[in-house]
Amino acid sequence: MALEKAYCANHSERLAIGVCVETGRAICGECSTRYNGVNYSREGLEIMLARKREKSALPGRLGWRRVVMLGVPVSVLLYLIFLLFGEWLMLWLRG
Ligand SMILES: [Zn+2]
Repeated sequence: MALEKAYCANHSERLAIGVCVETGRAICGECSTRYNGVNYSREGLEIMLARKREKSALPGRLGWRRVVMLGVPVSVLLYLIFLLFGEWLMLWLRG
């Protein structure tokens, strides 16, 4: 890659110092943000951060929902069964 001849995608008069790893566009020093040792353009950084948020938020939220959606009805059901059987047991024992 001939980076020395590339110009910034946002500033056509400025020489690019690197390429955004997300968007693949040439970017100048002002447009680039260094994150985890790699260059991102402003758009690229937003894309990357949005994906990161999505990744970290989704499993947690799904896991919490799964616990409520399955755990609560199951424990209520078990409790009702227990109450029902308890009553039957008492009646049966009294004869
Ligand atoms: Zn620029």
